[in-house]
Amino acid sequence: MLKIRENFIHSINKLAGNIPTKTLTNITGQKVIFPFYHCISDEAPIHIKHLYQVKTVKQFEADLEFLLKNYKPLDYADLDYYIQNKKTITKPSFLLTFDDGLREFHDIIAPILYRKGIPAICFLNSEFIDNKALFYRYKTSLLIEYTLLSKPNIDAGKYANYLIRREFKKLIKHLQLINYENKDILTNLANTANYNFTKYLRENKPYLTSKQILSLKEQGFRFGSHSIDHPEYRFISYEEQLNQTIKSTNRICNDFGIKYKYFSFPFTDYGVSKQFFDEVYNQNKVDISFGCAGIKADSAVKNIQRISLEMNNLSAKQIINSELIYYIFRAIFGKNKIKRT
Ligand SMILES: [Zn+2]
Repeated sequence: MLKIRENFIHSINKLAGNIPTKTLTNITGQKVIFPFYHCISDEAPIHIKHLYQVKTVKQFEADLEFLLKNYKPLDYADLDYYIQNKKTITKPSFLLTFDDGLREFHDIIAPILYRKGIPAICFLNSEFIDNKALFYRYKTSLLIEYTLLSKPNIDAGKYANYLIRREFKKLIKHLQLINYENKDILTNLANTANYNFTKYLRENKPYLTSKQILSLKEQGFRFGSHSIDHPEYRFISYEEQLNQTIKSTNRICNDFGIKYKYFSFPFTDYGVSKQFFDEVYNQNKVDISFGCAGIKADSAVKNIQRISLEMNNLSAKQIINSELIYYIFRAIFGKNKIKRT
């Protein structure tokens, strides 16, 4: 599903970038958009550089300029009303969100947004706050970098065969395929290759600290949860989905004195059932949740779909216009709504 949308955007972004966004907004009636990023940095951190493209400060500021020209920043009260269906948003509006609770949100992103008066929500993995642990995909990126730079000499270990045979290309391909379920391979491989993730965490501090979160909260930024340790929901059990969602949300609300309960799905909400949404919403475990399927309605009405603005160096205008055209395209086939069963 994701691939079709991405391919569509890649094939039409140049054309789409030349169409006025206002025209597409009027045709689609999609007035409110929810863009999201992870990180902004002039140099991609090593734990991310082998996973996806990071926008520079200049690219981010150009995105913001485009957004402010075409949309007004949605404030949190508007968001609450929007969710409760008490108010229809008539002016084109946007709300920025940032996943994974990275240090760059404090060091780079928040100062820019604060200066421009743009609100944002940052989503945290409860286990990673204060650099207590590291997302398994970041371990992949670190090991790829380590392999490319050091070409380590290994003489033992179950998963080190590629290293022993010095088949580095195969090893990198293998590393990219490691998922949540078999993530321990990364720890074993790091031990074998004498690479220390804890040292990286200690020296580089990729995540926000509790102190930084509290000070950003004071400045008016909001925080939500992004699960405990970032599993892909369709691959874990229903019970574990609930556990990851409820435990992380409660911890973030308790630790930082937060009353609202925002949640963004790690990776994707693809395949998450109606039963899950009914349970978390009916029992007020979560107030609002966020996916990343672009511009789309969801039969789980409190689940909002967002647009990734990190797609291969494309500008916000190219991505948003392409998403709006994709929306029109899907509307023809009546496929603009995610149906949960
Ligand atoms: Zn994430």
